[in-house]
Amino acid sequence: MDDQLFKRAMGKFATGVTVVTTESGDKVHGMTANAFMSVSLDPKLIVISVANKATMKGYLDEAGSFAVSILADGQADLSMYFAGQKKDDKSVEFDVFDDMPVLHGAVATITCDVHNAHLEGDHTLYIGRVRDIRVDDEAKPLAYFSGKYYDLT
Ligand code: FAD
Repeated sequence: MDDQLFKRAMGKFATGVTVVTTESGDKVHGMTANAFMSVSLDPKLIVISVANKATMKGYLDEAGSFAVSILADGQADLSMYFAGQKKDDKSVEFDVFDDMPVLHGAVATITCDVHNAHLEGDHTLYIGRVRDIRVDDEAKPLAYFSGKYYDLT
């Protein structure tokens, strides 16, 4: 099975874009992720899938908690930045929500404690037990499909 064929097929699944953030000691780390979904209503669980080679994995294992900021349209630059695709050394000002660093202007923000972690192939699935949620009903989400960003408006 060809890797590119697999990636191309997965890219046909249109998604939103999130930035996962966490804090370990006094260090804040952010990473763009679209492998995110809700898992359970009772209890409230979500999942993110993080590459084992990502710096984020060590942070998550240490911190035991994380936040997911669902990006709004107009935030594609932040997605590229937290995917390491923009090399400028940017100083990002994080909001604080539920004592966690989160991105300003997101359509929704979810804070979680790591409930479970499953090593699966070259990624780890982090199940987050939801602690708190903030939603901006006026904002529109950023969409991602076949490697490109789209505004829904
Ligand atoms: P790094 O590559 O070290 O960090 C990413 C960038 O964020 C760097 O530029 C770094 O300087 C900056 N940064 C981090 N923290 C801070 C801070 N506190 N202040 C200022 N800058 C900071 N990978 C997955 O594993 N799972 C996914 O679901 C996933 N989905 C993706 C979806 C999209 C649309 C894209 C574009 C990429 C996706 N990736 C995903 C790839 C992933 O975002 C990149 O491989 C990323 O670079 C891996 O992050 P890292 O933790 O290794 O951190």
